[in-house]
This record gives sequence, structure tokens and C-alpha cells, in this order.
Amino acid sequence: MSQQIKIQLPDGSVREVAPGTTPLDIANSISPRLAAAVVVARVRPLNTSAPNGTADAEAKAEQTEEAMYSGNDPAGERIVDLVAPLHEDVALELLKESDPAALRVVRHSAAHVMATAILELFPETKLGHGPATDNGYFYDVYREVPFSEADLAAIERRMAEVVARDEKFQRVEEPREQGLKDYEKSGEFMKVHFIERFTNPGDTISLYKNGNFTDFCRGPHVPSTGRVKAFKVMSIAGAYWLGKEDNQQLQRIYGTAFFSQKELDAHFKYLEEIKARDHRVLGKQLDLFSIQEVAGAGLIFWHPKGGLIRKTMEDWMRGECIRRGYQMVFTPHLMRRELWKISGHEENYAENMYPPMELDDAEYRIKPMNCPGHILIYKNSPKSYRDLPQRYAELGNVYRYERSGTMHGLLRVRGFTQDDAHIFCTPEQIEDEMEACVDFAESVLKTFGFSEFKIELSTWDPKDPKFIGGAEQWNRANGSLTRVLERKNISYKTIPGEAAFYGPKIDIKLVDVLGRLWQLSTVQFDWNLPERFELEYIGEDGERHRPVMVHRALFGSIERFFGVLIEHYAGAFPFWLAPVQVGLVPISEKHADYAESVKKRLEAAGLRVELDLSNQKMNAKIRDFGLQKVPFILVVGDKESATDSVSVRVRGKGDQGSQTIDAFVAHAKQLVTEHSMEL
Ligand SMILES: [Zn+2]
Ligand SMILES: [Zn+2]
Repeated sequence: MSQQIKIQLPDGSVREVAPGTTPLDIANSISPRLAAAVVVARVRPLNTSAPNGTADAEAKAEQTEEAMYSGNDPAGERIVDLVAPLHEDVALELLKESDPAALRVVRHSAAHVMATAILELFPETKLGHGPATDNGYFYDVYREVPFSEADLAAIERRMAEVVARDEKFQRVEEPREQGLKDYEKSGEFMKVHFIERFTNPGDTISLYKNGNFTDFCRGPHVPSTGRVKAFKVMSIAGAYWLGKEDNQQLQRIYGTAFFSQKELDAHFKYLEEIKARDHRVLGKQLDLFSIQEVAGAGLIFWHPKGGLIRKTMEDWMRGECIRRGYQMVFTPHLMRRELWKISGHEENYAENMYPPMELDDAEYRIKPMNCPGHILIYKNSPKSYRDLPQRYAELGNVYRYERSGTMHGLLRVRGFTQDDAHIFCTPEQIEDEMEACVDFAESVLKTFGFSEFKIELSTWDPKDPKFIGGAEQWNRANGSLTRVLERKNISYKTIPGEAAFYGPKIDIKLVDVLGRLWQLSTVQFDWNLPERFELEYIGEDGERHRPVMVHRALFGSIERFFGVLIEHYAGAFPFWLAPVQVGLVPISEKHADYAESVKKRLEAAGLRVELDLSNQKMNAKIRDFGLQKVPFILVVGDKESATDSVSVRVRGKGDQGSQTIDAFVAHAKQLVTEHSMEL
């Protein structure tokens, strides 16, 4: 009798079963309901330990061609078909639809279903590879004639038939040489390439069959085509075989798949939402900013309405800096090359800087960062421990080189404004200063309407030589940052090896209304620049000491933060930020005078008002203000002018009836002082 193998389940229990038992057998032995719900299995030889970050690693591995085709199973953890016979002691996890790895398997299986449909309709097509991606799947195919929109629709309809046929995905193994011979004969040049490249002579290769369709693939797949329940063929793009222009032009057909129609619908709604909120589109529609070819890529022009929002953001930030004990400074945009040599930017950051320019006396470079400027202010007069901390803040314009083609609206630019600050303090003060920075960052995010954020603590990798300073320095700094986060009772993720080369940092990522993460605020510890610039202060002991330094930016880049705000609010800014807060509409020409007087009173109260005295009809004016997402539209006619009132329409709520001007002003002013998110 052959020896039993051990199967360990996630609850720790161990079953002894005959070799060749499949994960599906085990699921069935637990319950038929479980067997129907599982999609694939994750197995790990029992003598190995679980790796970290499994899902991410799996996602990455799956998208490489090698992972899709190489004949040899890795020794470690892997995802397998439910019907894969088990022959060794393993830890087994049965993955249901809720597991992200299962979603990738259904998407890759959908790629097989699509290839099946393509070959049934267009048998002359040759197949490349068809992996799952973060949002769906694609298949690269070669066919001389380009596929039309109608072809894609036909492919999608045929896919539904393949799914309805509920064909089993069957794994077949055969000698590599057999596979090569068959594929060469049928002219499948891409499959031949993949076998040659990713397997070795003498290997066994695996093929997956469903119905009459066979594909060279390592798997795994869902049990049958019927499990591909919700899918869509999305789009098509061109690509050269192996990325070489002399090669065949391939067609990459994109699709997506989910476990249910409901999830698929939600996905499309999400994509539409993202499109509708695109800050580049809204920026144009609401006349907030532009990027002009004649001036250059990645350089932002703030139009009056965008400029007003920026002014409001900056006013708030400056006021808050002063309230929190910062001093506002201003530093030049151009500084001598010598300075950038001392700071180390010439050495470490040159590829992001614009080339030096020759002036009468020396070479100059445009600043990519504000730090050296603030350091020169610190250094300009002797400091004692009583002067510390010194907190210098500047809304500083910086210019960094980004490769052409990588720019993206306000999010990735070549010229931007940092709400930058540098804090010079004694080593004893560092924890309090870091904590105050994290507090400040939280206040920025909350004020601008983000209630959710994630915090990352980036630390060094002792093995990486780019990190300067010794273990003692790093451990001390990491220790203080950790204590700061723990003191504030904030949960965070530690990311080893992601620190700046000069010290650890805390990054704060906000979560927007669509659940997307944006990296904006950063607070960084630095012992390098004080060293390079030989900064000093006289301590209580009368001796010279070296201060430490904190770099922090909370909006990060004002341009980028603005881009995120536009998308977060879909252009409907909260009242206190809205460039036009009140749109005034007289019912007819004869109410123009009263409308003018209302405008004056609102403006005297500090509100931003636009009065429409054009020849358009009243309803057209209301519609226009609505399209501009103006928070309040006030309509005035006979009744209003007789009662010193306005008829109020609220964005998103419609007509709210009339109100006296005094009551309206009081309410509006309250919204502004409270930075209310109510409207
Ligand atoms: Zn496959
Ligand atoms: Zn800095």
C-alpha cells in the first residue's frame, strides 16, 4: 500500500489522504457547498514557511510571460487547479471568489474563453499570450486583417456561447518536443517562441484544453468555462511582436471579467466615475487652469478661477503655519551651482535638474528643492539653543525635469509649488516636532475634506549602501518616529528600504471619494544636510552642537493637491473654496438694479459673487451657473426686491425658497469660517 500524504488546512487540522487526491476531493469531503464555491487552490509544501505579500507577488508573477509558460513548477507556494492531483505533504487553502488571486484566475480563464471564440470565428488567427491584469485580461493575437468593432462584438457574443457550453478546462501534459512540432506545423510562431524560451529540452509542457481549443499554458484555471460568469470585451490596441518595429504587428484585445454581473456593472460605473471626474476635463470645463503647448509641457497656467482656489488654499496654509509657530520666508529661484554642490544635489539629483546657465560671474541652476535656501537663512546668523526650533515655511516654486511623455495634467508636472518647510531643532526636540508635523498634516487633510488616510513609515535597508549614517543613527531616528505614531495612536505600515537616503520619513496617503490612494504629505528626518552645511547652535553648555533638520510638505505640491481636489469633488468645491460662491440671476431686466445692490452687499460681506446681466433667459442663466457648479444661485424679482430678500437655490438640492439678505449672509459667512463640508 502506498504511503499517505498530509494535507494541512488553514485551521491547522491535518488530513491524511492517498496520493493523487485533488483539492476538489478535499473540498467535497468537507461539504458539497464548499466544493461549489471554491475556484482554485493555493498549496505550499509543508516544510516551507509562508512568504510575505503573497497576493502582490502572485499578481506580479502572473503577468510575466515566464511565469505563464515555464514548465517547471516552483518549489514554493503556488496556485493550482482544483483538479490538480496532490503528491506531497502540503498546506492547502481553498480559494473562494472573494480572494483576489481567484479573481485573477477567472480573468485569465476568460482570456482562454476569448481565444476560443476568436479561433472559432477567425481560425486564421495566431495566438500570443493572454495574462490577467489588474483590471481584467488581454490576449495578444496576430491576424493580417485588423479586428473591427463589429468583430469584437461578435467575439463577445461567441464567448457567451463558449461559457454556456460549460466546457471543462483540462490539463494535459506532453513532451516539449511534441508541442514544438505541433505548433511549428500550424504556424503558431508565438507559441513556438514561448516554448523555446521558457522551457528546456526534455521538459514536459502543459496544455489546457476546453472543447476543441488547446492552449500552451501553465494554468491554473477555473474548473470550467461556465465559471466565467460576467465578462466584457473592452478594446483593442496595436503592439509589435516582442516590441520590435520590424516584427509582425499584433493586436492586443482587452477584456475584463468578474464573478458576477453586479461586480462587472459596478466596475463600469467606477470607470465612468473616474472619467467624469478627470481633472483635465473639468479644469477646462470650469476654466480653472491650462497647459499650453507654446509655453511647454508640464507647466501650469492658473486661470482666474483656479487662481482663486489656489489663493484660498495658500491663505489658509500661511495662516495655519503662522498659528503653529512657523516663520514665512522667500528664497530665490536661481542659485549658484556651487551651492548645489555643497548640498549634494549636483551629485545625487542632477538628472532631475535643469542644466546650468552661465551668467556674468558664475553658473546658476534653477532650484529643484527649497532646502538649501532655508539652510542659508539659518546659517546667516549665529543660533543658540534658545532660538530652536526654527521653523521656516515657504510656498516655493521648484522645477524638476520629467521625461517628455510622462507628464499628466496637474498630477505630474515640471514646475510646481511645494508648501515646503524646514525645521531646525535639537535632537531632543525632534519627537515633538515630528508629532506636530503629523498633527498639521491631519488638519490639512480634514480641512480639505479627506476623512480617511493611510500612514507609511519608510525606513532604511542596512544592506543598501545608498543610506548614509550608521545603524545607531537610523535606529534612534526610527525609534522616535515609531514613538510619535504610537503616541498619537495612529496605525501605520513600515516599509523597509523606502526611506530617503538621509533619514527615515513618514508618508501620508489620503483616500479620495472613489477609494483611490494619493501620496501627498511627507515628513522627513535629515542629518545629512546639517552636516554638509556645517550648521551649528550654541548649547546650554556653551559648546557648539549640530542641529537636526525636518523637511515637510503637507499639500505636497499645490498643483497636484489641486488636481486631487478637482477629482475628489468632481469640480463641485465646498463653499469656502468655490471660486464663485454665489450666482445672481435677475428675473428680468427691470430687476438689474436690485441685483446690483444685492451683489454689493454680498461682496461687502466678503463673498465671491457673479451677476449675470446678459440677454439670456432666466432659466438659461440658472443652468449656466449650475454647469459651473456654483454652490448658491440667487434669483431676484419683484417679490424679493420688495422684501429685501433673495430666492435661494442650493447646489444639489434645488429651490429652497426665499430668505432675507441678512439671513443668507449670516449663513454663508458661517460656512466659510467653519470651512464647512456641508456645501
Ligand atoms: Zn491559461
Ligand atoms: Zn527639504
